[in-house]
Amino acid sequence: MNIRVYSFIFTLLVVNLWLTSFNVLSTEVGSRDIEVITPEIPIELNRENNLEQITSLPQHDEDAKVELASEFVEQAPLKILKDVVQPGELKELSWSAGQSFSGKAIKPSVLVVRGLKTGPTLCLIAAIHGDELNGIEIVRRVVRNLDPMEVNGTVIGVPIVNIFGFTGNTRYLPDRRDLNRYFPGNPDGSAASRIADRFFTQIINHCEYVVDFHTGSFKRNNLPQLRADMNVEKVREFVGHFGSVAVLHKSGHGKSLRAAATREGIPTVAFEMGQTGSLQEEYVESGIKTIDILIRNLNILKRFRLWFEPQPVYYGSRWVRVNSGGILISKVEIGSKVEKHDILGHIINPLTTEETEILAPFNGRILGIALNQFMLPGYAAFHIGISSDTYTMIKEEKSQVSEDDESDESDDELDDETEEPENGESLQAGEEEFH
Ligand SMILES: [Zn+2]
Repeated sequence: MNIRVYSFIFTLLVVNLWLTSFNVLSTEVGSRDIEVITPEIPIELNRENNLEQITSLPQHDEDAKVELASEFVEQAPLKILKDVVQPGELKELSWSAGQSFSGKAIKPSVLVVRGLKTGPTLCLIAAIHGDELNGIEIVRRVVRNLDPMEVNGTVIGVPIVNIFGFTGNTRYLPDRRDLNRYFPGNPDGSAASRIADRFFTQIINHCEYVVDFHTGSFKRNNLPQLRADMNVEKVREFVGHFGSVAVLHKSGHGKSLRAAATREGIPTVAFEMGQTGSLQEEYVESGIKTIDILIRNLNILKRFRLWFEPQPVYYGSRWVRVNSGGILISKVEIGSKVEKHDILGHIINPLTTEETEILAPFNGRILGIALNQFMLPGYAAFHIGISSDTYTMIKEEKSQVSEDDESDESDDELDDETEEPENGESLQAGEEEFH
């Protein structure tokens, strides 16, 4: 045989070998029978790589994945809400928020992801105020997109806490109380207290960290920002895992979920963003990114995100109130930095066409802004985060002012997670709280 014949036979052999290997590969990928696949996984790889290969198996092999991964399980099943969530499982449960007027039990959904390996328990909760929608979608998307096989620890998501308020498109419970003023609750107390107690004992007691999502309220828009009690070391440490999102130090209302859980040794922050009543996709997306950074910094997922931007922390803030009535027209964007005497906006009096400027009383950053609306003198229009140097200066100035100047006290009322009814929206609920 001449060289051409040899060459032809050799080519045939190569093609045959290639086709055979392709066939094997096809069988492997397409097969639902896990027994066929396992011998193909090189056993010499270390534990971590083996687990990666198992988790990369096709989606329809969920049961086989769990079975195969059993040797990698480091933590026990989680007993919660009279149910059990196995390691490597994402389960939708529900908690009993109470009864509707028809007597039917209302059970908002609770998403639980139990990882195979040990790690912290992070709780993401939203809509304690029923008309605050951004957090609902963040919690739902973040938790739904977690692969329990890749999670270290546990993630618990409650997209809607105040289901009563949500269905009625209102901040409050049916009795017009603000649920976020009744934590940790009381099993024998008011309806709000009982709901708070059930939520706290059935869910919050399982958490090691809590993120509580809120939005600005009463026609105000908030820059994405954490509200955190930076006097508490565990909270400061927790806040440090969030990347570059702005932080506003506030101890918070004593009966808010944040304050009550923090007192119990569970570091809790409120994550404010946007406004009520609408789902703001840009805030939802940025919130999801921030929570992704948090989850990786807590080692709940393998870390690959690096974050070098500094985290601005504001140890003080003030609401700028308008001194004349009319329609507000803002001139500044949310998040923008302002200097003392900058024009923040105007109040237009439509009856007299009179126009009044609103000036920045000090340097800072716009953390919250009222939507353009009708205002009476004393309404809060711009929420300015004050950088630490300026804050010290303002505090010194303040100490020279007589004590009956109440303007600073009232600023706390506009803390959105616990906000008192403001701007004329007077309600009974705030007063009843102390009865
Ligand atoms: Zn809220």
